[in-house]
Amino acid sequence: MTDIMRAAPGVGLAAPQIGEPWRVVVMEDRPEYIERQAAAGVYSPEVLAALERRPFGPLVLVNPTLKAVGQEGGAFFEGCLSVRGYTAIVRRYREVEVEGLDVEGAPVRLRLAGWPARIAQHEVDHLAGVLYVDRMDSRSLAAADSMPDWVRALPSGVTPLGRCACCHPINDVPTS
Ligand SMILES: [Zn+2]
Repeated sequence: MTDIMRAAPGVGLAAPQIGEPWRVVVMEDRPEYIERQAAAGVYSPEVLAALERRPFGPLVLVNPTLKAVGQEGGAFFEGCLSVRGYTAIVRRYREVEVEGLDVEGAPVRLRLAGWPARIAQHEVDHLAGVLYVDRMDSRSLAAADSMPDWVRALPSGVTPLGRCACCHPINDVPTS
């Protein structure tokens, strides 16, 4: 699965996306992915800081469960290898705790924040058959190619770049 994720390339993959009935996810963000998107104009230093995006992984989680830590959230564009060609703004919790097993079967408990937490929420959603389009701000759906233009057009410090402390739960679809 890690090889398939890298070949895509993507920052995460859930087993159901490749037709396997397993509760397994892989996640990885690599320096070259971040550099490539910065070069494409997606990320200014301000956007990178707001997203808390940094390299991590590869991480394999078997039978993961996820719960939010607090109600602080953020909104940003997401895409998905199962919905190619599109992007949309999705609200996610800023910080989550993930429990599961590693590839050797040993228990794992992780606390993730920022972009890694967003990836984990996206991938664990896949295990419940939930795609980002089930959670997106519907009027934000756009062609993936135009995402850099949308990001550049966003006023700095304003949602979706800014964090939102929502007065309601960010996710109303069960994730586990
Ligand atoms: Zn996906």
